[in-house]
Amino acid sequence: TEELVEDKYKDVPTSGDSIRRKVLPSASLVPDDPTVLLTIAGMLQFKPIFLGKVPRQVPCATTSQRCIRTNDVENVGRTSRHHTFFEMLGNFSFGDYFKKEAIKWAWELTTLEYVRVWSASRQSMVSVYEDDDEAFEMWHDEVGVPVERIKRMGEEDNFWTSGVTGPCGPCSELYYDFHPERGHSDVDLGDDTRFVEFYNLVFMQYNRTDDGSLEPLKQKNIDTGLGLERMACILQKVPNNYETDLIFPIIEKASELANVSYVLADDSMKTKVKIIGDHLHAIVYLLSDSVVPSNIGRGYVVRQLIRRAVRTGRLVGIKGDIEEAFLPTIIQTLILEELKREELHFVQTLERGEKLLDQMLADALSSAQENSTAPCLSGKDAFLLYDTYGFPVEITREVADERGVSIDMNSFDIEMENQRRQSQAAHNAVKLEVEDGGDLAENIHDTEFLGYDALSTRAVVEA
Ligand code: ATP
Ligand code: MG
Ligand code: MG
Ligand code: MG
Repeated sequence: TEELVEDKYKDVPTSGDSIRRKVLPSASLVPDDPTVLLTIAGMLQFKPIFLGKVPRQVPCATTSQRCIRTNDVENVGRTSRHHTFFEMLGNFSFGDYFKKEAIKWAWELTTLEYVRVWSASRQSMVSVYEDDDEAFEMWHDEVGVPVERIKRMGEEDNFWTSGVTGPCGPCSELYYDFHPERGHSDVDLGDDTRFVEFYNLVFMQYNRTDDGSLEPLKQKNIDTGLGLERMACILQKVPNNYETDLIFPIIEKASELANVSYVLADDSMKTKVKIIGDHLHAIVYLLSDSVVPSNIGRGYVVRQLIRRAVRTGRLVGIKGDIEEAFLPTIIQTLILEELKREELHFVQTLERGEKLLDQMLADALSSAQENSTAPCLSGKDAFLLYDTYGFPVEITREVADERGVSIDMNSFDIEMENQRRQSQAAHNAVKLEVEDGGDLAENIHDTEFLGYDALSTRAVVEA
């Protein structure tokens, strides 16, 4: 997929101040936003940009955002698709591409012929906001989805908003159909034994103000969210998110400690071990974002999750120190796997960089020969290797030296300085926004957090 995307943008400059798109890191689970307690979606870190309060750094961005949704705690282990902790894969446009491209590319991505496993999503259903004729036409006329597989839905499902106020807009969602053979007349997209919503495309074009009215944003934006666990569930062909390799090892460990076989366990037991797996997952990520147990706000969320995990553990007969019992599995699943992925990714980047450097040096040598000048690598090239491929300039210089090529260090330094200035400007802009928003920690005490009820241990007793 990465290569495909590269190809799509092959004519678009990828360095200097016209960088078009950037893969950005996940923001913390602790948001820079006093209106929510925890990060609930990929768009949150970009809210100030959507609202036009902070200039965009790039026209388009991509993230894999860790999220917590306490409002889904009652669903954990009961539906096939809800976690308290999950990762949301998102593409964002800040006044760049809009509805047509977002729809076309989402379809392209999830129906890639040569990624065989996805291709079944050609059978997917899509939903559009009830009066969004433009989206309907795009799905039908351009993408070719038959009328019976496009559903118009109301505000509750297809008008996305991150809170009572803030950026929002109509959305269009993709639902994976596990049983397309059942036909498409009279279907209920809420039936999750058949359908799972896996991808949401939000056409972020309004701001909901304090008085509840909608004001158009200066720019039309795109905010998409593809649930990693739901994607894994579809690609790994397992019946629910919990049986994907993202979380199943913890659930298997819980079953082993409870002396049951997960496969043979009844639904009530399965729900309990899923709750343990889900909560441990959430707890580890919350702690690693420095959310420690306490009696207020976020600290209370993590405290309740720990208590619920411990209590559920006791209900299934896991005795003693629950965290310690799970530590080796958690380290293996959440930490070592992550390290391995990072290493693999870096090695691939490094190898691509080596190839590129080789090509650049060959070009420098042949053009020097043509013009009878001394071979020299441009500062721009050396900077591209540094910025995009992680090549320290010393290494580039060493390799270039071996081939008798020098580096234009003056222009390399100028590129470095430009980048430093750009990120400084962006940093200042973000800082201003936080100051405007008031003191975050103070505001949190005033936030009414409805997850307390949902997180009470009552739910476990009833389970
Ligand atoms: P659902 O209707 O299934 O509760 P949603 O409409 O609340 O999902 P969105 O706010 O549209 O979800 O979030 C975008 C995507 O994030 C979803 O399409 C899904 O893939 C994923 N997602 C949302 N909530 C969860 C959750 N609790 N656990 C795992 N993935 C989730
Ligand atoms: Mg939901
Ligand atoms: Mg939904
Ligand atoms: Mg949705």
